[in-house]
Amino acid sequence: MNRFQEELKNALSPDVVQTAAEEIVPWLSDWRGIYTGQAQALVRPRSTQQVAECLRLCHAHKVPVVPRGGNTGLCGGATPDANPANVILCLDRMNSIRSLDTIANTLVVDAGCILGNLRRAANEAGRMLPLSLAAEDSAQIGGNLATNAGGVNVVRYGMTRELVLGVEAVLPDGTIFNGLHTLRKDNTGYDLKQLFIGSEGTLGIITGVALRLYAQTQVRSVVLVAVESAQQSLELFRLLFGACGARLQAFEFFTDACLDLVLAHTEGLHEPFEQRHPAYVLIELADTADGEGLNRLLEEVIGQALEQELCQDAVVSASLSQLQTLWRLREEISEAQRADGPHLKHDISLPIERIPDFMRTAVQGLHAVAPDCRPYIFGHFGDGNLHYNISRPQGADKTWAAEHEEAVADAVFDEVAVYGGSISAEHGIGQLKRRAFHHYKDPVAIALMQQIKQLFDPHNIMNPGKLL
Ligand code: FAD
Repeated sequence: MNRFQEELKNALSPDVVQTAAEEIVPWLSDWRGIYTGQAQALVRPRSTQQVAECLRLCHAHKVPVVPRGGNTGLCGGATPDANPANVILCLDRMNSIRSLDTIANTLVVDAGCILGNLRRAANEAGRMLPLSLAAEDSAQIGGNLATNAGGVNVVRYGMTRELVLGVEAVLPDGTIFNGLHTLRKDNTGYDLKQLFIGSEGTLGIITGVALRLYAQTQVRSVVLVAVESAQQSLELFRLLFGACGARLQAFEFFTDACLDLVLAHTEGLHEPFEQRHPAYVLIELADTADGEGLNRLLEEVIGQALEQELCQDAVVSASLSQLQTLWRLREEISEAQRADGPHLKHDISLPIERIPDFMRTAVQGLHAVAPDCRPYIFGHFGDGNLHYNISRPQGADKTWAAEHEEAVADAVFDEVAVYGGSISAEHGIGQLKRRAFHHYKDPVAIALMQQIKQLFDPHNIMNPGKLL
């Protein structure tokens, strides 16, 4: 054990700091198995004070710190790089609910809480935490803030950023920033908590979070609609938004190729329509009461859509189990693609009205560099967010993805830039998109970010090699 490791163990407690190689190894790789790094210690603190003590020591010794939440991030942000001096800091033991208030409608929690547990706690109290994503039973709320996660309800409630009222964070030198307020209104200068949201662990460790709760929308109605094009989906979105307003809770798109993949790799799911269509949109309406009214509204709007030829067919959920089955057709796509083998993910956003044009032209550039590749396009269409994922050609070797990564990313991102979109809608930059980030992001914005980073973290100990 080196001097730093000894100091760390003495300052925290031996059970908080693990230094044996066999204890650290399971923490060195990312969820997708693309990245593996090295570390000299794994720290799992039980309190904000212990996080502060850990960072104070790392700062003094200039030791790099890799914050780690539930490790569901898709850009290698929580995976250490090759530096053997890294310390991995995981908040999984900081998982208490500090307060839940059904008058102020706030939830104050430790940052290591699992998102799914928080959603259930809010539910039991008759409230809703709307942040919802397929990885919610593993992802931590601190990781959700650090990546400014989106998910399936953004069209109604916004990204994580819009759900956060306050943040407690430990700065790289061990100072505790106490911004854990639950005020709805506070116009006293710069809103510093926003800097931590989406910072991917590069500015400090988020240790506490104050979240905004909403009324529970117990009444839900879901329809799966078959469409012939992205243009039809866009027109459908226009109609639904106007007719349903805030009740429109999800508007999710996937192509027929995605349906194929899900049916091939998932148990218990069946063809939703008698015949296949080019693409599908899963729409959810939700409200606090009046289920019959909600179903009627959905049926009326879908009836109009069919009449106006904005869709080709529709299946409305008649029971909770049917509703869940329709959702699985959308939510299992990531897992099905993982089962299909290594692939290239592009989590992009576009001005929503430009999605149809983008989909038409992007495929040309893509096939120029990767003939016969298999695009799987799905995502949060209502937010202008597509998962533009590319799998290897049928029969190609599994090394295909790694060999084509740069050329395919360039083809996709060049087209995203043409339409004024973003190379990362939800997942962040991490290690995966650093090259593209520096290529496509406005240089003035990058220079400002670098100055902010320097101010917070002059020794560059927080998650080096990620984002900037
Ligand atoms: P990690 O992966 O552990 O870390 C992510 C980043 O946050 C890293 O840079 C890490 O250093 C930093 N970090 C973690 N905790 C802290 C902390 N306490 N303080 C400071 N920095 C920290 N994302 C979406 O936005 N929308 C989706 O719909 C979505 N669907 C997904 C579906 C699947 C099947 C999977 C596997 C992932 C999905 N994701 C989605 C990505 C992922 O779930 C989110 O990025 C999530 O917010 C990451 O949380 P985490 O706790 O797992 O963070």
